Amino acid sequence: MSFQYHEPVSLAEAVDLGARFGADGRFLAGGTDLIIQMRRGKVAPRHVLSLHRVPGLDAIELNGSVRLGALVTHRAIERCASFQGRLRGLVEGAEVVGGHQIRNVGTVGGNIINASPAADVVPVLLALDATITCVGADGERTLTLEEFLLEPGRTARRPGELLTAVRFAVPQGRTATAFLKAGRRRAMEISVVCVAARLTLDATGERCVEARIALGAVAPTTWRAREAERLLEGRPLTPEAMREAGRAAAAGCRPIGDVRASARYRRLLVETLVPRALARCRKRFE
Ligand SMILES: Cc1cc2nc3c(=O)[nH]c(=O)nc-3n(C[C@H](O)[C@H](O)[C@H](O)COP(=O)(O)OP(=O)(O)OC[C@H]3O[C@@H](n4cnc5c(N)ncnc54)[C@H](O)[C@@H]3O)c2cc1C
Repeated sequence: MSFQYHEPVSLAEAVDLGARFGADGRFLAGGTDLIIQMRRGKVAPRHVLSLHRVPGLDAIELNGSVRLGALVTHRAIERCASFQGRLRGLVEGAEVVGGHQIRNVGTVGGNIINASPAADVVPVLLALDATITCVGADGERTLTLEEFLLEPGRTARRPGELLTAVRFAVPQGRTATAFLKAGRRRAMEISVVCVAARLTLDATGERCVEARIALGAVAPTTWRAREAERLLEGRPLTPEAMREAGRAAAAGCRPIGDVRASARYRRLLVETLVPRALARCRKRFE
């Protein structure tokens, strides 16, 4: 494993180095995915560009919308007091990533760029209709997170482009979020299936106005269960409606069978966890 290590001290320098090295370079955030992939020989960048001395990338900003700098760690999300209400689902996603050591250094930007279909924070961001901002030689561009995720391990990031931030609107009104993860053990575990939900109810607290359901580890990328969302929107949020959404999500997902679980078991988990995540949102309105 031989490479040149760079420590840009400004965003402009990081973008410049990214553009100069293109596909020969890799940005380094927490390193919890990158270093392992380099050790295993899966990637062999000739230039590693640490982002740690670039100011501002680790900031959480709340101002009508939320802006998470790419270098915000899972630990920082867990500890952000402002996320304990309607954004509780984001905390629930962050607090089950790996173990303490991983969460102390692993970042939201790394979780997105790594593009694992089993990533835990990505489904919550998808349920929040998040957008991402990248900066490269051609300037800045903003894409929806959904269009950014292309296939396992691949995003729409152009060679050398730097992910700077993730943004989403602060949920308003009677809105709640929730995240559930099924794994074979409770820590240091890749999701067998994970589910993020966001629900908004009308003023009566009975009818669902808007629903988002995003699933991990059941498709080549983190996946929005749109049919299930459609079944909920405009209807009373009854237990049967939630079960129906679970069945629709299970029917629509495309899980694989692997060492962790069979495809059939993953579908059963989706059918069970979707209504459970929705019920958890519902309970948060009480
Ligand atoms: C033991 C262990 C357990 C884990 N458990 C979980 C888990 O439970 N759930 C889960 O979701 N993940 C898990 N992971 C994976 C990993 O910790 C997360 O995906 C983490 O968020 C990656 O962030 P990072 O900062 O470490 O990324 P890095 O390893 O630094 O980078 C990952 C990739 O993103 C690129 N990159 C990083 N930041 C940027 C940027 N700003 N712009 C452009 N490119 C960038 C890198 O070049 C690299 O290709 C685990 C990993 C380990 C080692």
